[in-house]
Parts: sequence; C-alpha cells; structure tokens
Amino acid sequence: MKAARLYAFKKPLVVEEVPEPKLLSEDGVIVRVSGAGLCHTDLSYMDGLLPDVRGRTAKFPYIMGHESSGYVHKVGGGVTGLKEGDAVLVYGAVGCGMCEFCKRGEENRCSEDPITIGLSPEYEGGFAEYMYVPSYRYLLKVKGDPTDLAPLTDAGLTAYRAVKKVRSHLNPGTFSIIFGIGGLGFYALQYMKLFGVSSIIAVDINDAKLAMAKKWGADYTFKFDDSALPGKISSITGKNGVNAIVDFVGINSTANLAMKVLSNDGIYVNIGLGGGSVTIPLIYLIHSESIVTGNMWGTYNELREVYNLAESGRVKSMVDRRKLGEINDAIADLRNGKLMGRAVITP
Ligand SMILES: [Zn+2]
Ligand SMILES: [Zn+2]
Repeated sequence: MKAARLYAFKKPLVVEEVPEPKLLSEDGVIVRVSGAGLCHTDLSYMDGLLPDVRGRTAKFPYIMGHESSGYVHKVGGGVTGLKEGDAVLVYGAVGCGMCEFCKRGEENRCSEDPITIGLSPEYEGGFAEYMYVPSYRYLLKVKGDPTDLAPLTDAGLTAYRAVKKVRSHLNPGTFSIIFGIGGLGFYALQYMKLFGVSSIIAVDINDAKLAMAKKWGADYTFKFDDSALPGKISSITGKNGVNAIVDFVGINSTANLAMKVLSNDGIYVNIGLGGGSVTIPLIYLIHSESIVTGNMWGTYNELREVYNLAESGRVKSMVDRRKLGEINDAIADLRNGKLMGRAVITP
C-alpha cells in the first residue's frame, strides 16, 4: 500500500510502497483510510518537539495521522457490531483500560497516559491506504462518506470538550475569547454559538482567518500582533473583563493577555501546544475565584456527541482535501498558516 513515512525528525515525509498492516488481535480491525486530518501536533512530532508520553524514543520509519476516518476492511474474530464496508471514525486515544479514568470512559486522560494511534510507536496512523486499529471499541460507525468527518476525531473533539468546560460562563451579557481560528478554533466558534449567547471575540494573526471568523458569527475580530489589543478588549468588555477564554495557541503572550482580561469568576482553558507559561499571583485567584485549566483531547462519548452535531447539520467542517502524494505541500501550508480549516489527506 501507499503510505507517508517519517524517517527522521525535521525531514519531509517519504511517500512510498509499504506492506499492508496485519490484524494483530481478535478485537482488531483494518480500516481502509478515506481521510486523515493534518494537525499542528503532527508538526510538533515531526520536529521532535512532542515528548513521548511514556518517555520512549520515536520509532522510524513511522506513519503518523491521528485524525482518521475510513471503511472497515478486515475484522478479527472477536469483533462485534461492525462488518466490512462500514464507514467509521477512528477514536485515537488508547488507554490502559483499567485505571479510574479509563473506567469512567476518559481514556484520553488514562493515568498511564494514553497511547495515541498515529503518534505513539505502538500503532501507526492514517497517512496511508490502510491502518490497524487495535480494537473495534475505538471505532465509531457513521453514515455516508466519512472522508470529511475525519477532523471531528481530534480538531472537532478537542475543541468540543474545551468549550463544554466554559459552557456555564456563556451567559447573556458575557464576553468570550477564542485565541487562534485554525482547525480547532473554527469548531470552537461554532460550539460557542450553539451553547451560549456570549459575545465572541476572535483573535488571530491572520486576516483571512479573522474574516472567516466574522463570517461564521464572531462578534469582534482582532489581529494578535497589535499592542493596543488589551485596551481594545477592555473597551468592549468594560471593567468586568472576559468571562471565558479558550486558547488554541498557548504561548506566553496569549496566556499573559488572558490573565490581564479574564473576569472574576472567569475561566481560561489552554489547548495550545505553544509551550508558553504564565505567572499567576495566588492572591489574584483568591479575589477573582477564576479558573485556569487545560484540555486534553476528548472521550469516545464526546466524539459521539460531536458526530451527532455534525450529522444533524449543526456543526460544519471546513476541509481542504489533499492527496497523500502531496502531503509535504500540505504540511508546508499548515506551517505557513495558509490553510483555512483542516487539511484532510486522502490516499
Ligand atoms: Zn491533533
Ligand atoms: Zn487507563
């Protein structure tokens, strides 16, 4: 089969013929990939900046792709509820199955740290014609062509869980900020519109993305490279500040700005892998009772909810389909901020 493989950090992927994956367990499924979303985390992985959750060294050559959809191709003897040809989404967080988090359905937060299909050495991902999924329990059956649904499994899911955390703060007269209107921020904007009536402030460095945010319902849009930004935000929100902030960038400057404008009782959720940090005077937390937290992907059940929103037409995906043979061009476009929505690699 054709696959894109990483041979070394900081090198382009090599698109080549490789052996098809084998069914390695009774519960396992081989999926014929129809789409695999390209994520910023893939860039971090390629650059050697994503530490393995269990401290292992990376495996080379390796097929990435942790945001996949496709059709059931082969099933092991222990698989129930799925048959060849079924359209599926691949839920990528494989937990230990036994810890408190896994037992309550949060494999994304497994206390052993979840193995990620397409980012961990155990299981290769969707930048290929076929992929092995260790259990049918990581597949969600869907209707119709699953190709453009691939981003729901990470971009759509992660943004969903993050916005659910701020949901009770999106009341009439409140303000919220989304930092970064990329693959995830685009979904976050839609969830915020669905779940609340807060006035939404979209912040990005890219004018085209801000224009898109405006079109999709952001009440205010601001360019990030603007030193007057804190003042502009305060002039909208008044003394109360911003009640809910979701940060898909996660650098020093977004976090510091967030702390400057966050309201009393406000909530800041970081999702961005920008590697920033922020100093928070503890006395501030006493006075403000604000919440500063993060978000790690989402659960299988949350993926089911996200799919429900997409299937019923209440949430849209913005997909830029790219051929597997052109994956390095898509990676360059993602690096340069040229993609609108999500690039989905098709074999
Ligand atoms: Zn991702
Ligand atoms: Zn676990």
